[in-house]
Amino acid sequence: LMQLSVPLNFIGFIYREIRQGLTDIEQMFDLLDVPAEIEDRPDARPLAVAEGRVEFRDVHFSYDPNREILKGISFEVPAGKTVAIVGPSGAGKSTISRLLFRFYDVQSGKILIDGQDIGGVTQESLRSVIGMVPQDTVLFNDTIAYNIRYGRFDASAEDIRQAADLAQIGPFIEHLPDGYETMVGERGLKLSGGEKQRVAIARTILKAPPILMLDEATSALDSHTEQEIQAALDMVSRGRTTIVIAHRLSTVISADEIIVLKDGRIAERGRHAELLAKDGLYASMWARQREATEAEERLRIAREGD
Ligand code: ADP
Ligand code: MG
Repeated sequence: LMQLSVPLNFIGFIYREIRQGLTDIEQMFDLLDVPAEIEDRPDARPLAVAEGRVEFRDVHFSYDPNREILKGISFEVPAGKTVAIVGPSGAGKSTISRLLFRFYDVQSGKILIDGQDIGGVTQESLRSVIGMVPQDTVLFNDTIAYNIRYGRFDASAEDIRQAADLAQIGPFIEHLPDGYETMVGERGLKLSGGEKQRVAIARTILKAPPILMLDEATSALDSHTEQEIQAALDMVSRGRTTIVIAHRLSTVISADEIIVLKDGRIAERGRHAELLAKDGLYASMWARQREATEAEERLRIAREGD
């Protein structure tokens, strides 16, 4: 009986591991709200990344056949540079990030990384070189350590701690009753939007990918948290090819190129000063945002005066 119980335990262990793996993948697709329907082509090769240059070449895309979402998008992100994508809600910004991760295939045009069409490479190799920090991070129902380690499964406890510190979340974790072993997610400790985002940043720091895709979200964050997250994001994007869907003025101001997306088309593009001088959509968005920031600041000062 002893002899039998060991393999049974072992099978149970393997079974749980596989189940957990499947749950994670299912969860990942659930959370990103996308179908897991893209398959590798029979002749798919691994993506070979030397520099990490990203190019969208006349990309057209629609979720439903009768409604085109991206209507001919072309831009290039040279290796190590930062391109910011801004524009009204519903313009297609997050769609661009989903296409780069190849959750969907484009209808026409191409997305290239170091000259290789991402449609012809294995998804595993593609996703291993891109660090994605989504707008709404949903954590796995597991420990914080697991949630960070997901960026690189062979990471040591020390690596995880360092990544958490860089993401400005280390001290917060250490103050939890179970520290890094604290269960989070739906059935565990509920973290705030800013805390979850910093966990996602820690995961990305650990992964250290050559390409970053950041979908910033600031509406739910107070300005202190926002500054901490900004510092963490600046840290991780240094020297990496970065595409940032930007809401924050500071990110936009320092971007190598700003793309203003409207109704699935590039309405304006250029650097911050050039776009301001154009006095078009970007300039009006910027003026509006600055008014909002100033109003917030006045409110804060008034509150502190109480
Ligand atoms: P943004 O990030 O700029 O706010 P999105 O890229 O999320 O915009 O969405 C662009 C458009 O695509 C919106 O009109 C949105 O309703 C639509 N859309 C987004 N996801 C889906 C989907 N899974 N199925 C159908 N339409 C979608
Ligand atoms: Mg979006």
